Parts: sequence; C-alpha cells; structure tokens
Amino acid sequence: MTANPGCGRRTLLDACGADKDAIATQAGFAWPFGQSPFAIGRGKSFEASITEHGGAKLLTLLRDLLDLPLPEVAYKPVDEVGGNTQRELRHQHTCKLLLEAARGGDWPGTLFDHPMLRLTVGGVHVYLEPDVIAFKVKDLFYVVEIKSFPVIDRQADPDQVAAAIRQASVYVIALREMLSAHGLDPAMVASSVILVTPKGFSNTPVATLTDARKQIAMLVRQLRRADNVSDLLNEVPDDTTFDLRHNDLGVATRAATDLVNHLLRIEARYRPACTQHCEMAALCRDEAVRADSLDLYGTGVSDVFNGVDSASTARALAAGTRLPSPDQQDVARTLRRAQRLLDELGGVA
Ligand code: SF4
Repeated sequence: MTANPGCGRRTLLDACGADKDAIATQAGFAWPFGQSPFAIGRGKSFEASITEHGGAKLLTLLRDLLDLPLPEVAYKPVDEVGGNTQRELRHQHTCKLLLEAARGGDWPGTLFDHPMLRLTVGGVHVYLEPDVIAFKVKDLFYVVEIKSFPVIDRQADPDQVAAAIRQASVYVIALREMLSAHGLDPAMVASSVILVTPKGFSNTPVATLTDARKQIAMLVRQLRRADNVSDLLNEVPDDTTFDLRHNDLGVATRAATDLVNHLLRIEARYRPACTQHCEMAALCRDEAVRADSLDLYGTGVSDVFNGVDSASTARALAAGTRLPSPDQQDVARTLRRAQRLLDELGGVA
C-alpha cells in the first residue's frame, strides 16, 4: 500500500485484509508476483548470516560505518513475544522496547531484530517489519535494510537500490510516527538509512549509509494524499464484496466475471511499478490497456499530459479532431505544435 498510496483499490483491499493473491487468481489475473524461490532462499540465508550470533557481523559493519563505541551493545530479537508471533502483540512489545531505548539517555546502543512497526495509511493501520533498527549513542535510531542483490565495484542495480531505500524510508516514517505519538522527538530517527548487501557474488556483507531525505519527504507527501478508507467506501456500491465464496471443500466458487466487476468498481491508479509490488497488477494493467490509459507509460508521461487520460485523446487533440476541454487547452496547444513539427519532419524526409 505504501508503494502506491494513491490507489483506492489497493487501499481497500489492504484495509479489509483481503488475500490479493487468491483474489487475482480467482479473477483470472494471477500475477507471478515476487522473487523466485531461489532468490528468496538466497535472501533469507544472507540475512540470517548477518543477524546470527546476536548480530555479530552486523555490529562489526556498524562499528565501522557509524563509529560505534560498542563493546557492550545489546541485541534484541523482536520476531516473537514468548513464542507468539501475533502482529499487534509484537507491535506493542516493539513500542515498549523502542520507547525505553529512546528515553534511555546515554544508552550504549541496541540492535532490534525484526521489530513490528505500524503506519497509518488512508486512515488504517498497516504493519511493517524492518530487518533491523540500530540505536546509536548519539540519540539516533538508524533503520538497517538487508538485501541480497550484489554490489559489484560499488555499483548495484539502481532499481533495486531505489526500491530498498524507499522501503527503508517507509520504516523511518513509521518509526517517527511512533515516537511522535508518544511525545518524543521524531528527529531521533536518522534520515539516512543503512543498506547491507553482499559484496559481488560472495556472502561477504558491505554496509552503505544512504541519504534518504528526498524519498522520505516524497513518501510523506504521498501518504498525506492517500484517500481515507471511509471516503473510498462512500464511493463504492454497498453490495461490493471480495468474497470468493468457498464451498464446503474450501474451493472458491465465485465467477471470475462477477469478481472482476466488483473490483473494477473501485478506482485504481495503475503505474508500471505496480508489477513489482502488487498482486493485482495483471488486472489493473489489463484495465489500463483497455482504457488506452497514459498511466501505462508511468508518472513522468501522465504528469506531462496533465488533464488528458488516454493516448487516443492525446492523438485526437494533436490532430485537432477533438476540441480540448478548458483544462486541456495548454496540453492541446503543445500537442498540436508537436504534431506540426512531426508532419514537417515527415515532409522533409
Ligand atoms: S496493481 Fe492495481 S491495485 Fe495494485 S497498486 Fe497498482 S493499481 Fe493499485
């Protein structure tokens, strides 16, 4: 939800805890979402190697990166509470530990492994699980994100790096929200995040401190704009349901067309990046293709064509075969000029 907070469809599906994978499959739009089992296995084993033995490897990296004076640093796994992995319980436990650390003054430093944070998106709570939060002596929390994509000659896949920083930025915002809610200074959470990745194709970790101020500011703006769930509900018919209608054998029996019709009642905001983070991507992309939507080409294009929804409308405005609405006047002028230039170039050729 945090990857596309402006999408009403995703917001409602997440708000009611719907199983998006099962819904997309039943609707006939299954999406092979996520990493391959091999990549997941590699990611897990890399992460385990960093955090095992009380985060020993991670501490060595952080000592160098943050200059930690830490012979006595503490390590607290927060992935369960007395054997219970229930999210709200883990969140409350995380809050207690992090607030204690935040109020602890000259604390020697603590690594919190898999804390459970919470963020308010569109008026509902979303649970988030960072890999690690490191608490530093100088009253600063750092979010540490462990990723298994390789860094070769100090270079990594920019898309993967951007996604990792965005993910860590969401955790920064959630942590700041938690501190603010308890009367503490949100600036205690650093705007720089730490990415831990393998060096080349080995399992040797490297830690990089990355300035995430821009991503944090952008996400805060997007989250503020996210529609409120109750407002979204007011816009959909009362009988809208994502129920898959399981029979006594647990088999979903709802007709795909009926399910799709109900899903399409809720406005979506498709972006090419949806294919990386949402199980509904095939359905929403199909909807965008049918509508000839400019959303298919990304926010860069749809922002430039502000006020024009579809490629066919853009073509008609450029050709002068369609009268622009008042809010399309500027775009239409630009399109007609571009079309004239194209025609002239075509004539020269
Ligand atoms: S795939 Fe669809 S539901 Fe998911 S975020 Fe994108 S537009 Fe929204």
